[in-house]
Amino acid sequence: MDWINVEPDVYRLINKHYTPGRGGQQIKYIVRHHNAGILTIDGCWQVWQDRPASAHYQVENSGRIGQLVNDSDTAWHAANQLRNQQSIGIEHANCGGANEDWPISDTVITQGARLAAALCRYYNLGRPEYGKNIKDHRETGQTSCPYHLAYGGKYHQRWMNEAQRFYDELTNGTATTPAAPKPKETPVPALTPKYFRDFITGYLGPQFDAIQEIWRQLRGPGGQGWEQLGKNDKGQNLTLVDAIAAVRHDLVRIEKKLEEKK
Ligand SMILES: [Zn+2]
Repeated sequence: MDWINVEPDVYRLINKHYTPGRGGQQIKYIVRHHNAGILTIDGCWQVWQDRPASAHYQVENSGRIGQLVNDSDTAWHAANQLRNQQSIGIEHANCGGANEDWPISDTVITQGARLAAALCRYYNLGRPEYGKNIKDHRETGQTSCPYHLAYGGKYHQRWMNEAQRFYDELTNGTATTPAAPKPKETPVPALTPKYFRDFITGYLGPQFDAIQEIWRQLRGPGGQGWEQLGKNDKGQNLTLVDAIAAVRHDLVRIEKKLEEKK
């Protein structure tokens, strides 16, 4: 984790269930969440494939911090559009389930607090202060999230103390002249077969086999070509490659004729 540039340990950007851009709004505060689940960064990605929800960051139990929505985009985590547009959502993994009353580890509390401090510094939001630049999901009602982490909860003060301590450490000597916030660059994901498959299945569901579909589009249903592309001189339907070859063949012929007329 690069705290100065707020570069996460890992990017695992989701491809739906967020809104590109922030509708002209500025980032004003952080909203705290807990998973109500024991999720990894990947686990969050999976959950948000099906559930129309998202947050910018997930802190998992290993202490790793993952970015799932870029800061410059609007995640769907804070109950209404304006709050979503003005905030950055941080999810904290639980280390136990409902029967243990959703505990959160010291590691996750510390990492979540440090992330918030780094974001407060990066976006010139000031020293972390509850109610000002730090808010809880449950403020909008209809949820108890972030539960023990929420204002008045048993983890709240520990989290706030670390956020303020770390903010002071980060800004020591530079607090009086904060640099103008620079836009974070959007990382370009590596176009691996894995990325491509995830990208397609993200849209079309986990049962969808992207490679098979591309193969089918190229060769036609059952490898028999596409009826609407017409037939070759053996009476077979053309594939996409056949059709492009035929178009090119005609273009070359037309070009030659035009040349001859000159
Ligand atoms: Zn929440």
